[in-house]
Amino acid sequence: MLPDLPFDTARMLIGGQWRPARQTLTLCDPSTAAPLCQIARGTADDIDEAVRAAQASRDGAWGRTTAAERGRILSRLGRLVQEHAEQLTTLETLDVGKPVSQSRADAAALARYCEFYGGAADKVHGETIPYMNGYTVYTLREPHGVTGHIVPWNYPMQIIGRSVGAALAMGNACVLKPAEDACLTALYFCWLADQAGLPAGALGIVPGLGAEAGAALAAHPGIQHLSFTGSVATGASVQVAAAANVVPVTLELGGKSPQIVFEDANLDAALPFLVNAGLQNAGQTCSASSRILVHLSRFDEVAERMGEAYRGKRIGPAVDDPDIGPLINARQKERVEGFLARASGLPLLAEAAAPGGPGHFVPALLFGPVPPDHPLAQDEIFGPVQVLIPFETEDEAVTIANGTDYGLVASVWTENGARQMRLARALRSGQVFINNYGAGGGVELPFGGVGKSGHGREKGFEALYGFSTLKTVAAYHG
Ligand code: NAD
Repeated sequence: MLPDLPFDTARMLIGGQWRPARQTLTLCDPSTAAPLCQIARGTADDIDEAVRAAQASRDGAWGRTTAAERGRILSRLGRLVQEHAEQLTTLETLDVGKPVSQSRADAAALARYCEFYGGAADKVHGETIPYMNGYTVYTLREPHGVTGHIVPWNYPMQIIGRSVGAALAMGNACVLKPAEDACLTALYFCWLADQAGLPAGALGIVPGLGAEAGAALAAHPGIQHLSFTGSVATGASVQVAAAANVVPVTLELGGKSPQIVFEDANLDAALPFLVNAGLQNAGQTCSASSRILVHLSRFDEVAERMGEAYRGKRIGPAVDDPDIGPLINARQKERVEGFLARASGLPLLAEAAAPGGPGHFVPALLFGPVPPDHPLAQDEIFGPVQVLIPFETEDEAVTIANGTDYGLVASVWTENGARQMRLARALRSGQVFINNYGAGGGVELPFGGVGKSGHGREKGFEALYGFSTLKTVAAYHG
């Protein structure tokens, strides 16, 4: 059951007002499949009103807010997130089916994003450019205007922190479309933003279906920048919609991220990263490490030790804080089971057993050796499944690592410094970790993909450049 909340979950925040929707959708707890509450089923008209209210805020109070004051508001919001961290943790656990300690970590990350972008808001400067005699030339970093944020269900707090946090810091007004499967912490965040003193309209939220509210936001001519995280197919459709309005898009679409274990790897250090980076949030992580490439000389040892770790994993209801919770919904469970049906013939190295329904549980499975071109080694499964792939030479490891459509995160486990540097350059990936794995890394680290993992960067200072546009001023004074 949901705790008492300071807002009505079935409403949308538009222009500073919590408004009822014409229709609602039912949110369910993935651990029990039982209904949790109603949320708004926002329409294209609601999106239109939210975009207009955001523009009015840009033209009014929010547009006049200084960078220093934007920073103060975000810092206050960060403190409020910290004060409400336990409520946010409970909501995320019930809504996403995320084990309590993982939800708590996400709430802490959300607070950290607000702090980071609060501190950064007044530290983004233009520059002066030497030009012809008689000129003074300088650049101004300006907000895009109204930005759209389409967020998935797997990490609502982290993704809102990194995209909405950075966009607000630069002075954009944001319209947020959270996922229809999980949007309670998004609603709570918007309520906290209001408490922190964010002017009305600077952040609006319209929950609803992707094909309705999501598509309407992507296509709205009043949007000047879009940030999308989710599947490749939907991301591509969002980019097409944005192209019609010639609007820049940041796409973060997931991956098939490898960790490469060389013959000289420190396995004691690597082991927790090899396993947990694949199983965190039941594998429903865009930067999940679902492929482990292992030098042939260490293959049996890695298989044995990862297998032992798998057998010790507990799968259960998220409120019990297990190692692994349920998948988000029945559709996602069917999708993962569809992949597993294609695994027949692959050696199963280890399994962590799943409880029965009605929650959407699946077992955690470790396969290996798996041919690099097998669908389980190529496609994003988005479930607790990892494959071990043996290799013999460094060149072969790079070829396999780079041999999928994706390129989000990669890691290299070796004590050889020259090899670390070679691999950091050779791997086709938005992030490369050496002797660790960050699953996206901290708030400070620019994050995003190449290939079908998407384009554009969020997190760190880089996000502030993405959520702003550069104006060049050339003054002739003789
Ligand atoms: P999705 O891409 O369809 O949904 C993500 C967000 O986009 C949600 O808010 C959704 O409402 C919205 N959306 C859906 N259709 C839209 C449209 N036509 N226009 C605009 N917005 C739209 O993802 P899903 O269906 O929830 O999950 C399917 C698969 O996507 C997963 O199995 C997984 O492989 C992948 N996925 C990846 C990530 C990630 O972090 N990279 C997150 C969620 C899902």
